[in-house]
Amino acid sequence: MRFPAPRQQVPPAEKPTAAKQFERKWNSRLSPSVPNLLPGVCGLYQARGSTGKMCLFTNNQQSCASVESGCVAKLSEISISPSDRVFILTGAGVSAESGIPTFRGADGLWRNYRIEEVASPHAWARDPQLVWEFYSMRRQVASSARPNPAHFALAKLEQRLADRLFLCTQNVDNLHEQAGSKNVIHMHGELFKSRCDSCPRPPFDDAHLYEPPAELPRCACGGGIRPHICWFGEVPFELERIIRALDACTIFMAIGTSGVVEPAASFVAHVRARAKTIYVGPEEPANASAFTQCYLEKAGEILPQLF
Ligand code: NAD
Repeated sequence: MRFPAPRQQVPPAEKPTAAKQFERKWNSRLSPSVPNLLPGVCGLYQARGSTGKMCLFTNNQQSCASVESGCVAKLSEISISPSDRVFILTGAGVSAESGIPTFRGADGLWRNYRIEEVASPHAWARDPQLVWEFYSMRRQVASSARPNPAHFALAKLEQRLADRLFLCTQNVDNLHEQAGSKNVIHMHGELFKSRCDSCPRPPFDDAHLYEPPAELPRCACGGGIRPHICWFGEVPFELERIIRALDACTIFMAIGTSGVVEPAASFVAHVRARAKTIYVGPEEPANASAFTQCYLEKAGEILPQLF
């Protein structure tokens, strides 16, 4: 199976070599035998349950039976056996009910810039002040946000499953930790950390706002201090651990992620031949066909009922 072309990326000429190396590595790990669709696919089903909320099931005979019986299954707990290992991937939608906007909400623009124009190595090289203004704004928004019931439900699930739960977030806020989650993999970095763009000094806690007339922060080595964020075109953090956890999981759940930002969008394709795959979010994600079940609901409303 080919690694799908990222739908959002900096032009190829700007891609660092490390990203290309990662792409090759990832391709080699994807099984060429994974079919595009599971056998027994019965299409995309939509139904309205007794609550009037819409849910959707795909690609699984048993789930289709649930739809025919009025969608009752959607309100029951997800069954997790003692031998199951659960991989949860969260995206911006999990924090939407905490007041942190998603990228795809509204027009997806900040001051008329597309997000990729202020969140890339190219943007940093061209205009670090603009980049810091963008991340200062995001720090400001995130600093007053509080976890919502979705974050708390996932923290509770960690207490129950301990190391059988792998929580991987694309979010750079710290709302999972605020809710009590102890082991969170931030594959796209952390908003309240910074690092040097030149020396190997480790990332450090930093909640400062660097807006004009504030000077841009500099490292003792002379390099620039940048947000500890994985920008478009950069390699996400902790990929080795993530791939190991994907290989081990029996239940994969994506929550509040549109399925367009790679490599996270391809995780479900990597596991779907052998793991149960579940999506939660109010809209169908771009990779919906890879999920065995989709709950088209807000995460904060449905997660406390699923675990
Ligand atoms: P996205 O903006 O592409 O998609 C958000 C998804 O969340 C959409 O599919 C939307 O339907 C869904 N959604 C909206 N409200 C929801 C709710 N109440 N419950 C559940 N789902 C809901 O986000 P993405 O797929 O995570 O990818 C975009 C990138 O944006 C990521 O790299 C992430 O790092 C970054 N981002 C992070 C934050 C954050 O840290 N809170 C915020 C914005 C963007």
